Amino acid sequence: MQGLLIVLNAGSSSIKFSVFEAAGDAPPRALYEGQVEGLGSHARFEAKAADGTSLDEQRWPEGEDLDHADALVFLDGWLAPRLQGRELLGLGHRVVHGGLRHAAPVLVDDAMLAELEALCPLAPLHQPHNLAPIRAVREQFPGLPQVACFDTAFHRGQSEVEQQYALPRAVTESGVRRYGFHGLSYEYIASVLPQVHPRLASGRVIVAHLGNGASLCAMRDGRSIATTMGFSALDGLPMGTRCGALDPGVVFHLLRELKLSPEEAEAMLYRESGLLGVSGVSNDMRELRARAAEPRVRLALDIYVHRIAREIGSLAAALGGLDGLVFTAGIGEHSAETRAEVVAACGWLGLELDAKRNAVGGPCITQGDPAQRPSAWIVPTDEEGMLARHTLALLGRR
Ligand code: AMP
Repeated sequence: MQGLLIVLNAGSSSIKFSVFEAAGDAPPRALYEGQVEGLGSHARFEAKAADGTSLDEQRWPEGEDLDHADALVFLDGWLAPRLQGRELLGLGHRVVHGGLRHAAPVLVDDAMLAELEALCPLAPLHQPHNLAPIRAVREQFPGLPQVACFDTAFHRGQSEVEQQYALPRAVTESGVRRYGFHGLSYEYIASVLPQVHPRLASGRVIVAHLGNGASLCAMRDGRSIATTMGFSALDGLPMGTRCGALDPGVVFHLLRELKLSPEEAEAMLYRESGLLGVSGVSNDMRELRARAAEPRVRLALDIYVHRIAREIGSLAAALGGLDGLVFTAGIGEHSAETRAEVVAACGWLGLELDAKRNAVGGPCITQGDPAQRPSAWIVPTDEEGMLARHTLALLGRR
């Protein structure tokens, strides 16, 4: 197939897009990408070519707030002249929840859209934003194929033991289960593990996706067998502004004793906790590392690393050992201090940091022969590339 693909990742306050070129059997090639951020307040737009050079930047003045629909109209206007004369093959969308039924991407028609909308109660903060552009594009360009790629899909092969909570059966059957997220990132990493090291492709690997959102995934033979996020994207590791795993008793306490409404408690756990909540300074790892001498910042960093190391221990138990640890996403790829501290805390698993290689970006950042002993690696993720690959593959099968 030859032509262009657009990939969209619509979140609660931003819409990211990438344009890819498909030609024959080769993986789609990124041409440019951009995003409208700050929807609701202080909207700004930027677009960059694949080599990082800036193509355009815009800011909307105070008081001129853009919502998601405005942002889509803006993007349509920005993209239309750039797509002229080229065939647009279709759109791929990141959709957070595919429920239990979807272990792979799907082509979206009206029935599928209704099915995905019925999953909104499982991810009320994300799913409606993911689906809105699909509906808008269907209304404006009904013949244009659209593909939904799910963050949950990669984990659907996990065992029932892993996916169920110890809750009454009726609650489990109503959909309260461990779903797991960041699946597109993990799937991409799994797809490149054979090039990273053969022992990782067929072995017991823990992938640490450490970005604004963060989770770990235990893989055997490149398949997910356990992950730290569960029913929602709040679970597992502390993140930039999310609390990570919490005794559910804390939530009752927030509601009953501190008199928070469910919405206030939810906003606190999603947006005011994690690195930001503990440090009181920032959710940005760059700023936290620069101010690590301040006691509250140091504490936030120590909690972050300690919890990652504890969860690595838990996933190593699920895997029955460890052959490799892979760091990816913003913090995993760029914060050498965080990697060094996590690897040091995982010495008991046989990992020994190679400080020089860690400082220069690896890819292998531990000592010894990875064929003989556990190793740690930096592997950049590419969720957009994975979306484009899936979209092209599904369009090709139509
Ligand atoms: P992501 O969600 O994958 O874009 O990751 C965002 C996180 O990566 C933020 O916490 C950033 O502070 C962090 N990050 C990005 N670049 C760097 C860097 N050079 N050093 C440390 N952290 C970084």
